Amino acid sequence: MSEDALEIINGLSPNQKINYDKTLKTLIKKWEKKEARPKILLHSCCAPCSTYCLEYMTDLADITIYFANSNIHPKVEYLRREQVQKDFIAQFNEKNNKQVQFLAAPYEPQKFMKMVRDQELTQEPEGGKRCSACFQMRLDLVAEKAQELDFDYFGSALTLSPKKNSQLINTIGFDIQKFYDVNYLPSDFKKNKGYERSLEMCREYDIYRQCYCGCVFAAQDQGVDFKQVTQDAKEYLEKRRPEA
Ligand code: SF4
Ligand code: SF4
Repeated sequence: MSEDALEIINGLSPNQKINYDKTLKTLIKKWEKKEARPKILLHSCCAPCSTYCLEYMTDLADITIYFANSNIHPKVEYLRREQVQKDFIAQFNEKNNKQVQFLAAPYEPQKFMKMVRDQELTQEPEGGKRCSACFQMRLDLVAEKAQELDFDYFGSALTLSPKKNSQLINTIGFDIQKFYDVNYLPSDFKKNKGYERSLEMCREYDIYRQCYCGCVFAAQDQGVDFKQVTQDAKEYLEKRRPEA
């Protein structure tokens, strides 16, 4: 089963700013009416944004987190964020008796770099055109995988972050939906104190919160010390390595 949330949006006045949180709630009511429990492939770029999204959505749907983030630099930091995401899911499942699944796309940073260079986006500030292209690239991968594996919806936990433009992410999601045989899950997870709850959950589960979004460009603008990032990530992964 899958309801197209665009039908909800198309019923709104054209001049109205779309409230994607309300759209999701209307969609959920439709599921409840049909006693449906959809399968959702939810993109996440590291554990913090996934915390509240899983708490909210796992009562309603079967969720698989899709880690598709070739934007993250350097590789060892990518591996750290992936491991933190997997560890959080395992703890969350155990504590709440849930069955959240995890999948990862291949790490292909050269594709991200090529896309940024081809579109001349290296100098863009964080929040600008490079970020739109980055959301597009990742959401496209999520839609492709969701279609391949027969999910009912694809979506992203990114709308939880106050630093990310939810209007833009949702617009991109619905644009991508046109090219796939799977529906986009609208969201604005930061609403209903979702972001505040994610901070609480990060403390509760002792989750690593990174200090930069992911790509080398924004990190350089921010003055991130890559030597330190690399050392910290290596130490983390070393400690995580199971006993021989
Ligand atoms: S938006 Fe930031 S905090 Fe949220 S999952 Fe992505 S990298 Fe992590
Ligand atoms: S700042 Fe974040 S969202 Fe923007 S391009 Fe870099 S990794 Fe992607």
